Amino acid sequence: AAKSDSSCSYRIFDSGIKDARAERRALEGALKAALENKELDLFYQPILDLATNQMWGCEALARWKHPTKGMISPLQFIPTAEESGLIGPMGDWILEEACTTAMTWPQPLKVAINLSPVQFRSRDVVASVRTALEISGLPAHRLVLEITESVKLTEEATAALKKLKALGVSIALDDFGTGYASMSYLSSFPFDKIKIDQSFVRNMLTSADSRAIIKATIGLAKDLNMSTTAEGVETEEQLNALRLAGASQAQGYLIAKPMSREAIASFIADVPKPLARKRDESSRAV
Ligand code: C2E
Ligand code: MG
Ligand code: MG
Ligand code: MG
Repeated sequence: AAKSDSSCSYRIFDSGIKDARAERRALEGALKAALENKELDLFYQPILDLATNQMWGCEALARWKHPTKGMISPLQFIPTAEESGLIGPMGDWILEEACTTAMTWPQPLKVAINLSPVQFRSRDVVASVRTALEISGLPAHRLVLEITESVKLTEEATAALKKLKALGVSIALDDFGTGYASMSYLSSFPFDKIKIDQSFVRNMLTSADSRAIIKATIGLAKDLNMSTTAEGVETEEQLNALRLAGASQAQGYLIAKPMSREAIASFIADVPKPLARKRDESSRAV
């Protein structure tokens, strides 16, 4: 009985592995087809400049409009795209598409685009960005590239980031405070902006620790001549606290959710009204 038990559990284990592998292969195949069939899409989430109460620009966020499964989150398909190497062509498409869309917005509005560590390892990321700027006609100063600590700052990666800055593009450190070595990472490259991770914003009204981390991050950024964007702002209370703490920009569902290219166009067209109203309210409150 013991023998059949163990062979049985072995079989289950084995088929589990096979299933996982088969599932990943299936997902890779579907993702490749999605790229070819143009099922991949970008959503845009507005970012509010807290000094002027004007719209700063938008972050481009990848979406997969699956024909039967509906909208699939980037958290589900970016890792597979990275493992399969598809992130190369996918990342190039994202850069071009986001820059081309940003070109249709009013002049001062900027676009922030997330880069994967794999784009630094297996792709000439500088050539990809330069191509996207050329094809779209977007001035480099309207583009911000977001990286996380998962981009290892090797000599090659650091050289690429320096070349990108030389083009006039800005570099932001995304999800700040969630990695293993945020401080040493921050000191290894002159970032233009720090994005304060939404976990700190979520807890800031209930946790003195989160408030302290946000306050310290904003102070540090100022001393290092960097701006700050607070992510995941969902309530007026959080927004007011972040304003008081001196954050440069805010992004979150309170301001707006990520939306389609068409929806962002009408949001921008309406912007003077809702954002001016917000400004009136806040100047009364202050
Ligand atoms: P991220 O770059 O930190 O993007 C912010 C995430 O927070 C987005 O999730 C956004 O929808 C979400 N978010 C914004 N405001 C709020 C809020 O008020 N509350 C909450 N709970 N969430 C909010 P999303 O779109 O699911 O993207 C997840 C992550 O996937 C991104 O995190 C980024 O790391 C990655 N990603 C997204 N698009 C791309 C892309 O085009 N390329 C690469 N390489 N990665 C991408
Ligand atoms: Mg980001
Ligand atoms: Mg983030
Ligand atoms: Mg993130």
